Amino acid sequence: MSFTQLDALTAHLNELDAQGLRRFRHGVESVCQPHLLVDGQPLLAFNSNDYLGLAAHPLVVEALREGASLYGAGSGASHLISGHSQAHARLEELLADMLSPFLPSVRALYFSTGYMANLGVLTALADTAKGDITFFSDALNHASLIDGIRLTREPCQVYRHADTADLPQRLSTCQSGTKVVVTDGVFSMDGDIAPLQALLALCEQHGVWLLVDDAHGFGVLGDGGAGVLQHFNLRSEQLIYIGTLGKAAGVSGAFIAAHEHVIEWMVQRSRPYIYSTASVPALAHALLTSMRIIRGEEGRRRRAHLHTLIQQLSTAPVQAAWQRMASTTAIQPLVIGSNAQVLKASADLKAQGIWISAIRAPTVPVNTARLRITLSASHTTQDVDCLVQALAGGGLS
Ligand SMILES: *Cc1c(COP(=O)(O)O)cnc(C)c1O
Repeated sequence: MSFTQLDALTAHLNELDAQGLRRFRHGVESVCQPHLLVDGQPLLAFNSNDYLGLAAHPLVVEALREGASLYGAGSGASHLISGHSQAHARLEELLADMLSPFLPSVRALYFSTGYMANLGVLTALADTAKGDITFFSDALNHASLIDGIRLTREPCQVYRHADTADLPQRLSTCQSGTKVVVTDGVFSMDGDIAPLQALLALCEQHGVWLLVDDAHGFGVLGDGGAGVLQHFNLRSEQLIYIGTLGKAAGVSGAFIAAHEHVIEWMVQRSRPYIYSTASVPALAHALLTSMRIIRGEEGRRRRAHLHTLIQQLSTAPVQAAWQRMASTTAIQPLVIGSNAQVLKASADLKAQGIWISAIRAPTVPVNTARLRITLSASHTTQDVDCLVQALAGGGLS
């Protein structure tokens, strides 16, 4: 007799195939950089979030090695037991210092991933409000923000993407004692930057929190790489900032930066923080080196080079049927349309040695399946030339 519940699950997998929604993983055989060996095939990759090329930076790799010899392979416990190392503590101090021009009385809290950081901060905020809280979430926010809000089991209003005209009415009519506007800093699948000046003005006018997830801005935006707050030169104690450290910072992890009382409350109450083993201290040790590079002259050089590449790509022609998005960041998506079309485009590029991932629903809205092209400071202008030629249609149908 067959187990019908397993049969039902198998039918769901077949359904994914039928809709062009099955996702596959590919075994990368080399260090994270543009020229990769993937399942035995050499590819020029435009799909990592290693925007500054620090994942393979010799000094960062060496610091990771040094961290392992200083602190061992694991942390042994959660942060509140015995897992909080000197490396974690020093990293938090450095991150707080970096964000201090933008966040008064700032403190930073390191998390093992950005996904966890978002669950951690949203649930901790809800925990202060005793059921009297509403979240206001941009329609294109990252899944980890959506899931963090869901985990609170509190009400959420989804406002139109980047639409600051849609929010005032919602904020004035909502009766909750605590309100939190939640947004990506740079939208992960579109590459546009949130209208943070207008959003912060609104939040200040209404006396509510503004929570910004800057996974794709930290390290890349702003003169010193401090991210989207530096880009707009914002400063407010109503801001709660999340930066991730596995993208431009090239390693792993994330942090919340906010007023010290917000952070202390999280240390006391944030369950995703408290009930999870602290990340490997060597990662924090490596991140200290990564932060020094980001803040220093080399970081500035890498950001300038990345900017040159963005200009090069964003002014090049692409096939008429493909729609470019209004992005000035390292995320330069091309909307292709249906799942079948995007899979074909991605496969055609791969046959020419170029690796760009096909992004489909539910990551992006149905029928806006896209090639999510990302640039890195470790690309050369010649690499981008290759990409531009392929996108112009040579050999593609
Ligand atoms: C990648 C990403 C995250 C998750 O960060 P991880 O460290 O990869 O878990 C959160 N928010 C946004 C907007 C992201 O793009």
